[in-house]
Amino acid sequence: SHHHHHHHVALFSSPGMGHIIPSLELAKHLLTHQKITITKITLFIPSINSSSSKAEKDVLQSTINQNISIDIIHLPPIDISNHISNNVLDPNNIVTLETKIAITMHEAPKLFVSAISNMKFKPTMIITDYFLSQTLPLVKKMNNMEVPMYLFAPTSAWLVALGFHSPKLDKEVEGEYHSHGETPILIPGCKGIHPSDLFQMMEDRTHRLYLEYLLMCEALTLADGIFVNTFEELEPKTLEALRSGKITKVPIFPIGPVIRETNEQNRNHVVDWLDIQEEESVIYVSLGSGYSMSHEQIKEMAIGLELSGQKFVWSLRPPSTKTGNNNYYLTAGEDAETNKKCHSSVQEASTQMDIEKINVDDLILKSKSSKTNGATKSQEPSDFPEEFYRIQSNGIVVMDWAPQLEILNHASIGGFVSHCGWNSIIESVSCGVPIIGWPLFAEQRMNASMLQDEEVGIAIRLNVSMSTKIVGSEEIGKAIRKIIDKGDIEGCAIRKRVKELKHIAQKAWSHHHGSSYFALTRIINSNGVS
Ligand code: UDP
Repeated sequence: SHHHHHHHVALFSSPGMGHIIPSLELAKHLLTHQKITITKITLFIPSINSSSSKAEKDVLQSTINQNISIDIIHLPPIDISNHISNNVLDPNNIVTLETKIAITMHEAPKLFVSAISNMKFKPTMIITDYFLSQTLPLVKKMNNMEVPMYLFAPTSAWLVALGFHSPKLDKEVEGEYHSHGETPILIPGCKGIHPSDLFQMMEDRTHRLYLEYLLMCEALTLADGIFVNTFEELEPKTLEALRSGKITKVPIFPIGPVIRETNEQNRNHVVDWLDIQEEESVIYVSLGSGYSMSHEQIKEMAIGLELSGQKFVWSLRPPSTKTGNNNYYLTAGEDAETNKKCHSSVQEASTQMDIEKINVDDLILKSKSSKTNGATKSQEPSDFPEEFYRIQSNGIVVMDWAPQLEILNHASIGGFVSHCGWNSIIESVSCGVPIIGWPLFAEQRMNASMLQDEEVGIAIRLNVSMSTKIVGSEEIGKAIRKIIDKGDIEGCAIRKRVKELKHIAQKAWSHHHGSSYFALTRIINSNGVS
């Protein structure tokens, strides 16, 4: 068919490293898949902050430099000032993160659709991030665009099941979802959700974010299929429920693990140091790309590591305020000042974008030499608690972007203290590393509860105070001992199970009978492009 030589996928990622990284990896899988003839992928990313983080620039630039057929396009910034009223500002007149996410979910799809309609080389397939599903009704409305539309969920299948079921819950449940005691929230055929573990977008039913979430959920049904970064054996029950037709008719394809390959070029002083440590003796600590720990939590963490007696690699975003913060869209390397400026400028009207006339070709990121202009200053840990300095000889603290996959894949790593971001989980499982779950935001509490479950059984979960998000040092120390100690029965079972899953995960992408490889081939072929 004529598609054979001109198969062009427009891939639309949400902002944030937890979305951009798996989107890039999906793109690479599609381009290198032997049975799929995709000639080009254009990856679109919405712009949120005035500048993207250094980590993000590095990841994108290295993709461009690999000389594969991926064009990367940052959509023009969304004019948030048009969308806010005073009641969405926090006491410091800053637009809250929740509001920014809500506006992005609503506005970014319009920019994307305008951009693809102005492309010379029209896409023959669209793959949109799950959270940007509001793109789908817009594409449906365009008269010159009849292309298959898929979604990519860099999340659990369980969250996808919740997404399909949420419009129903919205009709059936009165009041806030967490105001009904301990009764679990039920999705047909799936594990129930403890109300206190529920997805953050459903926490406040009066917030604009919840309304956007519902619109997002309703749009899911327009998809021709959903790729999920999971695999059969990790979520058998949920995937079966999704296939049963009781939750949705939309076909769901588990295509995980979608993670990057380890790369010798990412070898740095951390990996060199790991080389000389004992097998499975080191704890890796990372609470994700966007969370910075408070002063108090750094102290508890340091004491906890000390109590555990284990060596560690600690990927730490220094606090921008005494209390720490979470900014999902603010990632490593972006300093707090830039972020503040960006927040305050939000209220000044920025140039009104004419979304009818996005010139896509002008927006494509150009290949540059990988040399960065001026080395980034590594941040000086000047005012950390004394406990933090006391433990320095026992491990390594990484203040900028850590080579997480190379660390997790190292034989010296024995456990991962993780915020349970979905990518971190998939990476940890793929490397056979047991998890100490420390869920903070978004759907991370659901993720942690799933990992702890019998069916999966690869984590222990820390008790995180809902109000302060603080975990005490003793609890941290004890959990680490449990995961590392060869004599601990629970720890033993967890270690054994995660290694089993590692082997299964490796098979999922096997070119012979791999379930994920097979799923991806089937979808693309069903669109007549192979
Ligand atoms: N990551 C990394 N180095 C860091 C912090 C994060 O390589 O110092 C990567 C990590 O391997 C993962 C992604 O960034 O691929 C984070 O995604 P995740 O879903 O775990 O959490 P999020 O940052 O979205 O909360």
